[in-house]
Amino acid sequence: MSDVSMNRPGEVRRDDLVAWLNDYLQVSTFKDVSLNGLQIEGTDIIRRVAASVDTSVKTLQHAADSGADILLVHHGLFWGRPLPITGPHYQRVRTAIQADLNLYASHLPLDAHAEVGNNAMMARALSLTGTMPFAEVAGKQIGVAGELPFELSLQDFADRIQKLTGEICLVHSGGGPTVRRVGICSGEGSDRVAEAAALGLDTLLTGEPAHKHFNDAFEYGINVVFAGHYETEVFGVRALAAKLEDHFGLPWQFLHHPTGL
Ligand SMILES: [Zn+2]
Repeated sequence: MSDVSMNRPGEVRRDDLVAWLNDYLQVSTFKDVSLNGLQIEGTDIIRRVAASVDTSVKTLQHAADSGADILLVHHGLFWGRPLPITGPHYQRVRTAIQADLNLYASHLPLDAHAEVGNNAMMARALSLTGTMPFAEVAGKQIGVAGELPFELSLQDFADRIQKLTGEICLVHSGGGPTVRRVGICSGEGSDRVAEAAALGLDTLLTGEPAHKHFNDAFEYGINVVFAGHYETEVFGVRALAAKLEDHFGLPWQFLHHPTGL
């Protein structure tokens, strides 16, 4: 943990903030090809934070226009393959650099985090009890499995999720008519059906469907509720920005750019 005692109230040196984030999110413990941490270096002093799910020219420009000094995102600039700084990738980098905006990305660490992670936040919103890690990616469990305090009909469960995200869910009712034991895997978790069934869960809550996994729900006999990749990943960046406000007194804003996916 870096010493941030020399920072003035309401502002923090970028390097101190990044060190704090890397430590809090346990970035070094993840073998994640999407490059977690500071991806673009901007201004040295942070006074205002913006948070968004995705990195795009729109979100970067919106962050710059909002007066933010740093944009926190879940999906950063990189997904594990080298990219030339050309075309839209160039436009993204240029938008941030021209605005002197820092870009900090937290992908798997922000799915998995026990306090501000996407899955922990949804588990808390659903009051799951007896929670345990679930859904291994690159040697780490990033999801949460647990039990609802009382049994819900599948329809009532879907309604609760819709209230939570504000969007309509897609439901594949491969299991029984009721929901009690739930596994949550934000984003792209449609390949987690077998794992959920092996744990004795009756329902998998995830983000985005994949056609190749359609029959899994029905053949493993569990329900799968797809709440949207974007919608299941707004929780982490918002909670992380709120954490920075608590810890450093930095004001923040969530930039809502839904993808419909
Ligand atoms: Zn994602």
